[in-house]
Amino acid sequence: MRVLVTGGAGFIGSEVCRHFISSLGLDVVVLDTLSYAGNLASLAPVADSPRYAFEKGDICDRNVVESVLRKYEPGAVVHLAAETHVDRSIGHSEVFVRTNVLGTFTLLDVSRRYVERTPSVAQSFRFVHVSTDEVYGSLGAEGVFTETTPYDPSSPYSASKAGSDHLAKAWHRTYGLPVIVSNCSNNYGPYQFPEKLIPLMILNALEGKALPVYGNGLNVRDWLYVEDHARALATILAKGRPGETYNVGGRNERTNLDVVRQICSLLDRLRPAGTSHHDRISFVKDRPGHDLRYAIDATKLESELGWRANETFETGIEKTVRWYMDRADWWRPLRDRVYGGKRLGLIGKD
Ligand code: NAD
Repeated sequence: MRVLVTGGAGFIGSEVCRHFISSLGLDVVVLDTLSYAGNLASLAPVADSPRYAFEKGDICDRNVVESVLRKYEPGAVVHLAAETHVDRSIGHSEVFVRTNVLGTFTLLDVSRRYVERTPSVAQSFRFVHVSTDEVYGSLGAEGVFTETTPYDPSSPYSASKAGSDHLAKAWHRTYGLPVIVSNCSNNYGPYQFPEKLIPLMILNALEGKALPVYGNGLNVRDWLYVEDHARALATILAKGRPGETYNVGGRNERTNLDVVRQICSLLDRLRPAGTSHHDRISFVKDRPGHDLRYAIDATKLESELGWRANETFETGIEKTVRWYMDRADWWRPLRDRVYGGKRLGLIGKD
């Protein structure tokens, strides 16, 4: 089967491509506009595979999406293209609404017309819409998100993703497009753009810079190693039921401060410096609308589809730290780029 992966040059999308091509032997075509977050270097491990094709293009452009579907006739779409950084969404919300809402609408609508006129894919076609647990809003100290938790997004990012989820579900109910929605917790691992919390802290620590933690650092996130997410999406694609939602998470709740401390302890062991990396932690003004806690209940995905996370946070974070220590060739050019007038590394978090 051939799968169209939107956003395949991003963090999770590139992992999905590497997994689908190298482990599952699927044919993959990537549609990606190569925004600041898209990076062909993340696809280098599969770039020479005959199973891989790349199309540069914008998911908001109907003509582009139509021509890619016509050219490759994929049996499935796994939709990851999005604007994803919460901090950026506060200052630059319009592009989030455009890409995440209008772009998802365009893909859904072009896909349903494509399925209607393409009998060879009509029976088995799937549209996997990849979303976030942030659509559910913030938890207090207790409780977990299930697939029936009401939507209550806090940031322009999560609101735009919530809008895209509603569109995806409507295209199933109204037009019968075989859509499956997944809502996943925070991902971490190799090839993550260095504005996000974990790579930002690893790289700042490696470069001897401050480790800025929002507020008191007690906000809780539920972390999933990116390979586990890619395996979950493969499972959902193969076995998920159209019209259903599956939550994806690894039961790895950590405060942001605990995450940063764990990175510091690992680096104290793996790359001892003159002083402990812990000494570089500093607390900075909290971001507006900062959700207190996310926690995913992935029981449905585990019990109905048989998926399990392979990595604990301890094993996954050590792999991640070691990867960034070894792969300056990948991250150094990104750290040197300037975006929105601010040098990367001074903004950040999840
Ligand atoms: P990312 O920012 O690393 O990558 C996004 C990719 O989308 C980039 O390659 C970018 O070039 C591409 N893109 C952006 N706008 C586009 C457009 N208009 N047309 C085509 N391509 C475009 O994102 P990520 O962290 O890999 O997240 C991928 C998906 O997973 C997103 O939909 C996100 O909401 C969701 N998700 C992410 C996380 C996480 O922790 N990173 C957690 C749950 C869900």
